[in-house]
Amino acid sequence: MSEQMFFEAGTLVSVLTTQPLDRALDYRAPEGGCFRGAYVEVPLGPRKVIGVVWGAGKGDYDYSKVRAIIRVLDAVPMREEMFSFLEKSAAYTLTPLSAMLRLTTRAPGLGDPPSMQKIYRRGEGEPDRVTAARTKVLETLAEYGDLAFTLRELGEMAAVTSSVIKGLVKQGVVREEESPRYMPFVRLDPELPSKALTEDQAAAAAVLAVGVTSGDYGTTLLRGVTGSGKTEVYLEAVAAALRAGRQALVLLPEIALTAEFYTRVEARFGAKPAEWHSGATMTERRRIWRMVGEGNAQLVIGARSALFLPFQNLGLIVVDEEHDTSYKQEEGVLYNARDMAVLRASICGAHVVLASATPSLESWANAQAGKYTKLELTSRFGPAVMPTMGTIDMRSEGLPSDRWVSPSLKKEVDARLERGEQAMLFINRRGYAPVTLCRACGHQIGCDDCDARMVEHRFLKRLICHQCGESKPMPTACPSCEAEDKMAPIGPGVERLGEEAHALWPDARIATLSSDMYGSARALKEEIAGIAQGSADIIIGTQLVAKGHNFPKLTLVGVIDADLGLTGSDLRAAERTFQLMRQVAGRAGRAEAPGTALLQTYQPDHPVIRSILAGDEEGFWKAEAKEREQAGMPPYGRLAGIILSGPDVAAVFDAGNQLARNDKALRDVGAQVYGPAPAPIARVRGRHRVRLLVKASKNVALQRALSIWISQIKLKGDLRLAVDIDPQSF
Ligand code: ADP
Ligand code: ZN
Repeated sequence: MSEQMFFEAGTLVSVLTTQPLDRALDYRAPEGGCFRGAYVEVPLGPRKVIGVVWGAGKGDYDYSKVRAIIRVLDAVPMREEMFSFLEKSAAYTLTPLSAMLRLTTRAPGLGDPPSMQKIYRRGEGEPDRVTAARTKVLETLAEYGDLAFTLRELGEMAAVTSSVIKGLVKQGVVREEESPRYMPFVRLDPELPSKALTEDQAAAAAVLAVGVTSGDYGTTLLRGVTGSGKTEVYLEAVAAALRAGRQALVLLPEIALTAEFYTRVEARFGAKPAEWHSGATMTERRRIWRMVGEGNAQLVIGARSALFLPFQNLGLIVVDEEHDTSYKQEEGVLYNARDMAVLRASICGAHVVLASATPSLESWANAQAGKYTKLELTSRFGPAVMPTMGTIDMRSEGLPSDRWVSPSLKKEVDARLERGEQAMLFINRRGYAPVTLCRACGHQIGCDDCDARMVEHRFLKRLICHQCGESKPMPTACPSCEAEDKMAPIGPGVERLGEEAHALWPDARIATLSSDMYGSARALKEEIAGIAQGSADIIIGTQLVAKGHNFPKLTLVGVIDADLGLTGSDLRAAERTFQLMRQVAGRAGRAEAPGTALLQTYQPDHPVIRSILAGDEEGFWKAEAKEREQAGMPPYGRLAGIILSGPDVAAVFDAGNQLARNDKALRDVGAQVYGPAPAPIARVRGRHRVRLLVKASKNVALQRALSIWISQIKLKGDLRLAVDIDPQSF
């Protein structure tokens, strides 16, 4: 369909709204008509809702009563590219199109009146009387052609008082208008000098530049240890896109969107990029949305939802830390931003760069298979070397049961403190203790609504369920046997480790970093920036410190419980542990001082631990790939999860069994169904969840078979069904 498809006032158009309906609705085009792609406000029952003009209305019924579109919104219309992206991603994730559309409209607050300001430009008339001040105003306006200014700007440039300008407004010589506050972005300059790249880096940057300027879709996996200069290299790809007059998007996990990172980009290009993150205000989002749509924001650096911005001419998408599990949105539309980035780029002829020190097995396999170009940076930039890695065998440390820092690890930390360096203790568990147990009767406090234990958070003085967020005060008596003062914490969390550290090193400055200890992402990022400047001697942290922060004085990382991810039924556990441990170890010794990473483990001979120590990534991936291939698991086979949920556990299982029995549509394509079984999270917010896993070979039209299969089931009452294509855990 052409971008110019226009509908005269009164004609029937089909509007897709953001409401959870299963189809588009017909309306009459408003006065003045509208184009396909226009964002509009339409009546729906007693309400007004937002939608997009999708095409011509059907008109195969009595449509004399069809209501009219209320108004066309002041927003950049949706482009054909975005239609295609939404349609394809909806089909891929088996999500209703209206839910996909919501991803494009929620962020900019479409439909809300934007914040306004008065602006001034040249009007028609001539002044009744010429004065020096008036002449200055007219000269200033003439110099800038059709541009408009705020009262203050114009007053300053013409060096006149505001009353002079207001006087001219009265005579119609200067025109006063209401205008939304959309400040354009200052243009970025790709010609500013970059850092002098090493030979390796320059070679990689050159390959990327060729890909970006080709104007064709392509994906490159940029692999390199932390500190090898991946960021420097992909910023050159951004420069290539800007030179070619195309826009660029850099995606990072939310926590890595720090002021430090934005400053680094500003230093490279001489001006700020558009910053799209959870802390951005609605006004800022609206501004970015519009500027991106009009092509006046050349570079967006943001979190995964930036993928749904209305780029006019997108030439490059970088997905940094591409293996990061936070790219998978686990609520609402279940999409993986890494995969959607590839889809979006293939539609608009853009290049994708997937950057990581420890790529996902999926991307590694795609590169092996030749679908992605492979680029590697093998050494760290400058004098820094990879950290020395070792294990501490906990079986021989003789640690009392409620202590977690081994004597060997303590000695290593002491040495760093003496030298004025930083040490990090890493544990991937939030809160104070994972279990709270009654020492009289053995009762463990669980969540009332979920199948999960409540986790004690001393900092917040509450017990919190990590599934649903439910919290309650810490009881003094056991809820089961009512014994007083018998509730005891079992096992370590990051807060408890912090407590132990304070006892071990009373004079050290200790910073405990856990997402729930900070009011906002911004506060947390500020704390991290302070630590990078040296505000702490010992850093205690969870997964979030494993991501690309740069702590120049950090020379030791102690992993408290390296075994944590090795057990459990998740087939991805090995991959996760490998990535996490490598990332954490990569924190140590970025600058001049060499680093050490020590893993406390009860299983020093475990194959995953051994390949981490040996730094044998290729070996690890190959072994892991072989196992997955033999089992027909992703990325060598395809998986989809069907999650049924409802308040009544029997009804949920009945529905699951009914689906499992009627699996002809799946058998027809050679797919198998497993389950129903309790979902990885078996109960959330009072709803029971069961999961069916569907396994198919790689080249099957799985989505089509799935939609035929699930359409057989009528969801009664409060039963709900969600499809999770490529589930993260299996
Ligand atoms: P990665 O993204 O692989 O972790 P970075 O691009 O962040 O690596 O580089 C690590 C550090 O080394 C950064 O401080 C960066 O500015 C610096 N660096 C990397 N390459 C160069 C170079 N060629 N010249 C100067 N500094 C560099
Ligand atoms: Zn809960």
